[in-house]
Amino acid sequence: MIQTKGYAAQATNEQLQPWNFERREVGNHDVQIEIQYCGVCHTDIHNLKNEWFPGIFPMVPGHEIVGKIIKVGDHAKKFKIGDLAGVGTYVDSCRECEDCKNGHEVFCAENVQTYNSLNRNGQPTYGGYSNTIVVDEDYVFRISEKLDLAATAPLLCAGVTTYSPLKKWKVGKGHKLGVIGLGGLGHMAVKFGVALGAEVTVFSTSPNKEEDAKKLGAHHFVVSKDEEQMKAVFHSFDFILDTVSVNHDINPLIAVLRTNGVYINVGLPSKPWEISSFSVVVGNKVITGSGHGGLHEAQQMLDFCAEHNIVSDIELIDIKDIDNAFERLEKGDVRYRFVIDMSTL
Ligand code: NAP
Ligand code: ZN
Repeated sequence: MIQTKGYAAQATNEQLQPWNFERREVGNHDVQIEIQYCGVCHTDIHNLKNEWFPGIFPMVPGHEIVGKIIKVGDHAKKFKIGDLAGVGTYVDSCRECEDCKNGHEVFCAENVQTYNSLNRNGQPTYGGYSNTIVVDEDYVFRISEKLDLAATAPLLCAGVTTYSPLKKWKVGKGHKLGVIGLGGLGHMAVKFGVALGAEVTVFSTSPNKEEDAKKLGAHHFVVSKDEEQMKAVFHSFDFILDTVSVNHDINPLIAVLRTNGVYINVGLPSKPWEISSFSVVVGNKVITGSGHGGLHEAQQMLDFCAEHNIVSDIELIDIKDIDNAFERLEKGDVRYRFVIDMSTL
């Protein structure tokens, strides 16, 4: 077994503390990665707090992992020692079902999440707030040497989660896209929306994020709590991408869509929405969701980022400051993704 250092919560709502654990030896099709950086996703908080379902503890969060390959299994072909590599939100799936065959591995009934999950032998998985990880190479992505490595980490979740629906719905030139919430996912949605040629408006509850939104490339900024500003954009958007992590009223946001407009949700607040029947009937509105992305799509997104020089805007933190980062994340106070420098472990 491989001795591993990480940060774990021993039970729900407990603070993260240093924790040593073991990972499996490198199998024939596995690679071992020395983790250099790991992004902090709002999902880490949802999981640590058992907001969706009872979690598996001790929990080592983290599913925005980048680092260097330090060992390659005998039959693994994709990587060599020293290559940069990334791991996202899942590390295995059955490879045989309709979803796996169609590039929707994330929806496979046997999908194994990077942490807070059981692998196919029934062992708990542990995430990227740690110094090393062993993963089947099919679930590991190639990372370009051209991009800043720390700022690449968030692409592994925030990146693909926002890229995937924009590509699926062919959002681009001639479309007006509204991005709800300027956090980790939201700021990536702005960058992708702009790169794909859409006219992008940020809807935010934080008026002080306007200047940043424009620097990120957004064309317009609307304070979603301001009724006058909301009235001015009524019935004018083709697409909305909602990235908000907490329960909020989406009816006034649906109202900014024009006829046949599409409301795409990627946020995962714990409570169900209340949607007025009139909100969707008037204007034939479409409400849909999007979960992460497939393996092929994630690599495509990483290659797109290398080509267009897209990375995340990050605040690099010491792992000892993780609790402060969680607190700020919960207040919507992040510019725009915390990334842990794993050399501080
Ligand atoms: P985040 O960085 O915390 O961003 C969420 C943003 O929501 C905040 O920055 C804030 O933006 C806005 N917000 C906060 N409180 C609000 C309120 N009361 N009303 C309206 N807006 C509010 O979180 P994240 O890491 O981007 O994750 C966002 C959500 O996506 C989480 O629920 C996460 O679990 C989920 N997620 C889903 C997938 C998927 O596969 N679909 C993948 C990853 C994450 P403003 O200050 O601009 O309002
Ligand atoms: Zn995530």
